[in-house]
Order: sequence, then structure tokens, then C-alpha cells
Amino acid sequence: MKINEVFDNVYCVDVMVAGEERVISSYILDFERKAVIEPGPQSSIGNVIEALEEIGVRELDYVFVTHVHLDHGGGAGGLANRYGAKVVCHERGRKHVINPKRLWKASLEFSPKSKVYGKPESVEEGRVVIGKDGDVFSLGDVEIEVMETPGHAPHHLSFFLRDFRMLFPGDSAGMCIDGVVIPTTPPPFDLELWRESVRKMMSADPQYIAYTHFGMYDADRLLESVLETLERWVGLAESAGSFDDFVSAVEKGDEQFMRFMELYSHSEIMREWAIHGFRGIYEAVRNK
Ligand SMILES: [Zn+2]
Repeated sequence: MKINEVFDNVYCVDVMVAGEERVISSYILDFERKAVIEPGPQSSIGNVIEALEEIGVRELDYVFVTHVHLDHGGGAGGLANRYGAKVVCHERGRKHVINPKRLWKASLEFSPKSKVYGKPESVEEGRVVIGKDGDVFSLGDVEIEVMETPGHAPHHLSFFLRDFRMLFPGDSAGMCIDGVVIPTTPPPFDLELWRESVRKMMSADPQYIAYTHFGMYDADRLLESVLETLERWVGLAESAGSFDDFVSAVEKGDEQFMRFMELYSHSEIMREWAIHGFRGIYEAVRNK
């Protein structure tokens, strides 16, 4: 587990899921009120708690969840229950936070490898707060604005730390490593909503982007870049003769993808996500 203070009182924690480095980041916000954005999976929540202790955060007010996929929100219950914190999520994610049984079952059916994330804990109904587009949560000295950014998942939220112009896009702006960004688009992927969400994030004009996968960067042209890459892949999916042709066109022909995977040659999990992403784009393009 590594902790990086990426900005005043904002810490990026490498949760080291399944021992893999630089795959999932969780963010600790140590202001008048304390928050975690993206708890990460249940299986690595012990590392987030250890990071909180190391930073000296003993109470937690909020756990912000971008979406309930196990690598993002799976640890929400485990973390929030320990501190009595509120969990903020989308209306459509609420029932899964309160009772994660069906989500756990569906995740294992989607991929047996989901076991690596651990089984989520349920959260008492009264501590689950619905976040809607434009809602603002105060941490005392700074404010977090909720942005609804569907596409990767219909119930996807992003969070904008207004005071620092720092965006926490979860999976809705792709995955980024060392400034190389690619889309993450498992089925059921909604292409049109995803495009709209990225444009919406562009118009918020962030100065920094704090990715879940992985780390914080200057926003620079990252949102433009992920949109361009998506459109390129959509073109490849449209012209491919089969799913396998599409996969090999990206894997062997797309510079951005090849650079990204080179940086992640250490990660089994990343390879798995890449394949699911190809499936989502391909189905979205074929079924439209
Ligand atoms: Zn993810």
C-alpha cells in the first residue's frame, strides 16, 4: 500500500488489489469533514483503513461511490460500517449498497474472477444517501459536486472537487496510466450516453483528473484523448468482420492501446478488463 499526497489534503492510496500495483486508487480527503472517494473492492479495504490511520484520519463522514461495480464500490460497506459514515451513490445503485447479495452473484456470473474483489458488506438503509446531478456536499472548507455521468454504467456518478477543479470520474473517462488513457467499456455499454458524459465533464473544465485506474494527472487533453480513442475503436468495431477481428485490430494495431498495455504488462486484472471492454463496444456498435 502506497500513499501519495497529490494535492493539499488529498491523498491517493494504491489499494493493491490482489497484490497488483497501480491498478486501483482510492482517494482520501482530509478536510474539516473527512471523505473517501472510491473505497475500492472489499478485499483491499484493510489497506484503505491502514492509510486513513497513517494519515491520522480517525473519523469518516462520507464514502463517495462512483458506481457499484466491485472494483469501485465493493468496499463501501466495509469502510462505511467501520466508521459509521454515510455512503453517497446514485439512486439506481442504492439497493445494491443496502443489499449487495444480487450484485455479488451477478458479478461472479459475469466473471468468476470477480472473487478477487471480495464480497461486499451491506449498509444500513439510513446511511445511504442518494447523489443527484448538481448536488453539493460540503466537507467544511471544500465542496464536492455530484455529476451524473452514465455510459460505463447507467448509475455512474462522477465527483468534482470544485475548489481545486479536480474531477473524480470513476470509470466514465476511461483508465489512465502515465498520461496514456483508454476507454473502459464492459457490457452493457451505452455509447451515446458515454459520449455525452465525457463532453459534460469537458465542459466542467477540470484542471486535474483523479482516476480510479490509476492516479491523478493534469487534465490537459485527457478527456479529448479518450473520446478520440473511443471513436477510433468504434470505427474498428464497425468495419471488423467478427469480434475476434475487432480485438486483434485494436490489440495489434492501435498505438494507444499497445502503449497502455505495455505499461500494464504486470497486471492480470487489466488484461481481463481490456477484453470485457472490447465486448462492450462491439455489442454497442452491432446492436444499434
Ligand atoms: Zn473500474
